[in-house]
Amino acid sequence: MRIMSKNHFLLNAEKIAACCATSTKPLTIEVILQTESTNTDLMARVPTLGSPTLLVAETQTAGRGRAGRHWLSSPVPGSSLTFSLAWPFLEKPQALLGLPLAVGVGLAKALASMGVTVQLKWPNDVLREGKKLAGVLIETTSYLDRTWAIIGVGLNLLIPKELEQEIGQPVADAIWLAQMDRNEMLAVLITHLISCLQQFSRSGLSTFLPTWNSLHAYAGQQVCIVDQDKIIQQGIALGVNNLGCLLLQDRHGVVWPVMAGNVSLRLR
Ligand code: ATP
Repeated sequence: MRIMSKNHFLLNAEKIAACCATSTKPLTIEVILQTESTNTDLMARVPTLGSPTLLVAETQTAGRGRAGRHWLSSPVPGSSLTFSLAWPFLEKPQALLGLPLAVGVGLAKALASMGVTVQLKWPNDVLREGKKLAGVLIETTSYLDRTWAIIGVGLNLLIPKELEQEIGQPVADAIWLAQMDRNEMLAVLITHLISCLQQFSRSGLSTFLPTWNSLHAYAGQQVCIVDQDKIIQQGIALGVNNLGCLLLQDRHGVVWPVMAGNVSLRLR
């Protein structure tokens, strides 16, 4: 059976702008019908971007995850949200290592304000009832005196069974959100996201840690760190530190900070 989206609200840049809080301005908003990857598009345009820019695609045909992994979106119109936000920072790239965690907090707050409770999986996933609801991919590049972060987000609203099979693991969707006008939903997400980026610039990751750790999906659980299908570390997931590392306690009680890099986290 094919799931049909009841969401007939086409994405519209003016409508998104009208629903965004004034604190998000100036923000250029662009909506396109289809592209391979909104992150790839914005990354290529950094030298010509004068101000923060939001690029939203109705359909993304070659969405990317970390380390060349793929982000697959439902082809059913209105059943997902895929967008990227290009944001200029004065900080050097290495100061942005913890940014995925701050972005996760921003998304979690936005979703909570729309009635969807989520947890965060280190370093960059948003889970609902233990399954992935949204993924984040942040890429950075330096241009003149700025570090541009391209923050890509894919959010499932309705997931057809066939797509879940293609992804190869159980994934979450949010039927309640799928009934909403996606322009309003996007405005809520962007308003929270930008507020988090501003907070990150002011005070770094440390002010996000209590919230991140309170939403930590695997807190106190046995986990392993996987690199290209090989387990490279295992232990109990304690939380994250102010560099964005996962704190992993081994069986001797020693706590190791794990850098995100390209590794993946799995429950044991
Ligand atoms: P994971 O632990 O799920 O492999 P990761 O954080 O290591 O995730 P990412 O690069 O962040 O990997 O995300 C890409 C992965 O997300 C894919 O390899 C796939 O497993 C999963 N995925 C792809 N599309 C979707 C989707 N629409 N919904 C949920 N999960 C997806």
